[in-house]
Amino acid sequence: MPELTTTAAADFGLTEEQQDFVRAVREFCARECTPEKVRELLAGEDGHHSDEMARRMAELGWYGLCIPEEYGGSGGTFLDAVLFLEEWMRGEAPIGAYGVTLIVVGALNRFGTEEQKRDLLGRVARGGSLAIAMSEPEAGSDVASLRAQARLESGEWVLNGSKMWCSYAHKASHTLIVCRTREGGSRHEGLSMIFVPRDAEGFTITPIDTMGGRETNELHLDGVRVPEDALLGVEGEGWTQLMAGLNNERVILAAMALGLAQRAFDRTLAYVKERRQFGRPVGSFQALQHRLADLATELVQARLLVRWVARLTDEDPTRMLPQEASMAKLAATELAKKVTLEGVQMMGGYGYATEYPMERYLLSAVVTTIYGGTSEIQRNIIARTLGL
Ligand SMILES: Cc1cc2nc3c(=O)[nH]c(=O)nc-3n(C[C@H](O)[C@H](O)[C@H](O)COP(=O)(O)OP(=O)(O)OC[C@H]3O[C@@H](n4cnc5c(N)ncnc54)[C@H](O)[C@@H]3O)c2cc1C
Repeated sequence: MPELTTTAAADFGLTEEQQDFVRAVREFCARECTPEKVRELLAGEDGHHSDEMARRMAELGWYGLCIPEEYGGSGGTFLDAVLFLEEWMRGEAPIGAYGVTLIVVGALNRFGTEEQKRDLLGRVARGGSLAIAMSEPEAGSDVASLRAQARLESGEWVLNGSKMWCSYAHKASHTLIVCRTREGGSRHEGLSMIFVPRDAEGFTITPIDTMGGRETNELHLDGVRVPEDALLGVEGEGWTQLMAGLNNERVILAAMALGLAQRAFDRTLAYVKERRQFGRPVGSFQALQHRLADLATELVQARLLVRWVARLTDEDPTRMLPQEASMAKLAATELAKKVTLEGVQMMGGYGYATEYPMERYLLSAVVTTIYGGTSEIQRNIIARTLGL
């Protein structure tokens, strides 16, 4: 386990209880998520998710963060969940489906019926996974152009269409499909959210091979029938419901990217202290020292930004924070890419070798500035809030 770097700023404003919680997750990951144990847990799995590890973390109450106790969760704030997201990513826990699950948990908390919450939030609190499908082959950044549709027929929704890039749908008990239930009006009107169980007839999940492995899927819905009460929230209000979850989604992805960046930083720092060239540790060369000093500074900046937006969300979950949430996602994900690329460079040939994890971190970091709204889209949003 590489030396962990901490600064006073890392704990800034956290309660004693939250600091203890972070330490507990860190120690658990150091003990239970060693490369050998993770390899064992992931044997035969597609992607970086082990149901066994999810179940164990659920037993500790960590899967139930953001889920009220009445639905089997442990309660907690959004900031608690953000602390957890950063720590398990930093500690390499194989629970890759957790981030997207938490995005759907947010939607369920906001719009779910009592029955949906009991069933689906209860599953998550026990270590289950959920997925969300917005993107389509022809609808990426311009998500409002999506075409998958659902029609109500004799008390059942009948869904047809294709979805692209649905992360961990192969692990999720249910995927939340964003689809068109009405034509006419503006592109943002007539959208709805409907839960489809993994084993529904006519629902096909096909893995996509990517540079980060197999974690995302193409979906086909061919006359899939689900009961009328599989609808989440209000029919036709899907766009408003999506927008209401954007703070959460962006901060969740930012916190995960931050954990990845910190992990890559820790590894790089440990390496440059040990690796000797010209009779001295390579970390004693100022060319590397200054870059590491810059990265350490940017990590603290990003952490303060991400946690600040989480706190604002806790203060008022209904408040829209387009500028702040986009800044958090942009800063943390671009930083993850930068730290991992620098990590490869500072480790030299060993950074490039698959025997060491740095090249894998880099591959994982590349996608963070693409999914959940690309960096270009985050910049567009921030620019709009500046009146541009
Ligand atoms: C591994 C992975 C997991 C994913 N998981 C999910 C998931 O679980 N659920 C889900 O619904 N989606 C998911 N996505 C989809 C993801 O959100 C989209 O890939 C992303 O929004 C970009 O869409 P696109 O890939 O179609 O790119 P495009 O929208 O085609 O963009 C191509 C390029 O053009 C740029 N661009 C587009 N429009 C503008 C503009 N207006 N201004 C400036 N630049 C622009 C983009 O930034 C990008 O660089 C995932 C994607 C990946 C790769």
